[in-house]
Parts: sequence; C-alpha cells; structure tokens
Amino acid sequence: MVQFRDVSKHFGDLTVLNHLDLDVRTGEKVAIIGPSGSGKSTLLRALMTLEDIDEGVIMVDDEPLTHMPDTNGELVRANARHLRRVRGKVGMVFQSFNLFPHMSTRQNVMEAPVQVLGLSKKEARERAEELLAMVGLDDKLDHYPSQLSGGQQQRVAIARALAMRPKVMLFDEVTSALDPELCGEVLNVIRRLGEAHSLTMLMVTHQMGFAREFADRVCFFNEGRIHEQGTPDELFGNPQETRTQEFLSAVT
Ligand code: ATP
Ligand code: MG
Repeated sequence: MVQFRDVSKHFGDLTVLNHLDLDVRTGEKVAIIGPSGSGKSTLLRALMTLEDIDEGVIMVDDEPLTHMPDTNGELVRANARHLRRVRGKVGMVFQSFNLFPHMSTRQNVMEAPVQVLGLSKKEARERAEELLAMVGLDDKLDHYPSQLSGGQQQRVAIARALAMRPKVMLFDEVTSALDPELCGEVLNVIRRLGEAHSLTMLMVTHQMGFAREFADRVCFFNEGRIHEQGTPDELFGNPQETRTQEFLSAVT
C-alpha cells in the first residue's frame, strides 16, 4: 500500500531522510519509534506531500505520489489533479489538533468532504455524525474546539481525517500533548480503528506500551532511516543492534 524507495530529504546541510526504504502492506499497522530529530515526522509529512523529497520515489496504492505517466508512459511531475487524488488516499492526525477554531465539531468534520470531495451537505452531515458517534462524541456535535478537552479535540481530528475515507492513516505523536487519562480515550479510538482490517496505519509514538500491543511491526528509526525493525516481540524483547538497545533502555 505504501512504499518508500531510496528516499532522501535534506534541509540545507542536514540529511533528514537518508536513502530510506519502507514497505507497508495493506492493512498493516506499523509503529515508528526513535530519537528526537531522527526524521520520523518528516517521513509522515513526505507521505502527506507536506514536504518535498529530494531523491527517490514514494508510492501509495501502487501509484507514485508526486509523479505520473505522460502520454508516452514516461514519469513526469504530477499535476494538481493527480496529486489531489493520490493524496486523498492518505489521512493524517498531528500532535497539535489543528481544528478550525471557528467551526463546530460537526462543521470541522463536514468541511473537507464538502469542499474537496463535493459531497452534498446532507451526505457530509450524515458521515460526520456517524464518525463522531464512532469516536464517542455524539453529544458534542455543536461544541466549538475551545469548549472541548484535548482528548476530545484529538478525537474530532481523527474523525475529520476519516471523513475523507483514506486508505492509509498517519498518526504523529497524537497523544503527547495529552495527560494520561485523556491519552487513554484517544488510544482506545485508535485501537478500535485498528480492527478495520483494510485500513493501513502508520503511527509515530513515544508510547512503547501501546506500540507493543497495537503494531504488527515496529520500526526503530535513526538518522533518517530504519535502523532495525521486527515484530513487537522481536524489537522490544530481543533488539539486535546496539543503537536500538541503547534507545530502548533509555525510554523504557
Ligand atoms: P521528534 O521526535 O522530536 O518529533 P522527529 O524524528 O519527528 O523528532 P523531524 O521533525 O522529522 O524529527 O525532524 C528531523 C530533523 O529535521 C530535525 O533535526 C529538525 O530540526 C529538522 N527539520 C525539520 N523540519 C525542518 C524545516 N522545515 N527546516 C529545517 N530543518 C527542519
Ligand atoms: Mg516528530
């Protein structure tokens, strides 16, 4: 479903993604862990096309994200329409909730389906109410973000991303701005989403316990590439690389 092939990204002299290769199968749940500044957010942002890459190719659902075949079958830079279509297969939730402050919970979730997908207001409203019920917020439809707790805002952000019906969901430290109790309610929503077998999920997290329980595979990211990966039991229980061992003993 998602492939990074020899992807590199630099900020000036700094190499942030360093010949990165990553393959994620349809329905797979992948946790990405690793030290601060190792490029984890940049990896997700590149997949959302929020960040250009300097080298390599990113594929989503067997299509290159930023390139498309021209009439001769040669790959050229994608036009806006191609970008919009492929990008629509990916949804992302950030550490900061990024809700529209002047819109109610329901309007926040309805906005993109109406504006981008062209759904009617009625269809978008039904979709929004269904998703907000799924994340346990059916009693907050008319509240504004400032009237919600952090955990509730984050659940609205999850519903908003799901309203676009993505095939891949990206989560970037979605609980690190929350206190432990609110964190639990957000993780529960993510846990339930994980039960949708076709939804591919990539999650950057500092919560080793959740990664261990939730992920099919854990990738330890270091210096812009995957340093070591395996099942949670392999990576947490029996890490092979010294750098992985150091990181895990510092955080657990
Ligand atoms: P953390 O765990 O702290 O969130 P991370 O692994 O997500 O870290 P990134 O946010 O991907 O790290 O950043 C990787 C490196 O790229 C960092 O050194 C960061 O300072 C740098 N960087 C990120 N965005 C930019 C930017 N827009 N301009 C310059 N440097 C940047
Ligand atoms: Mg980050």
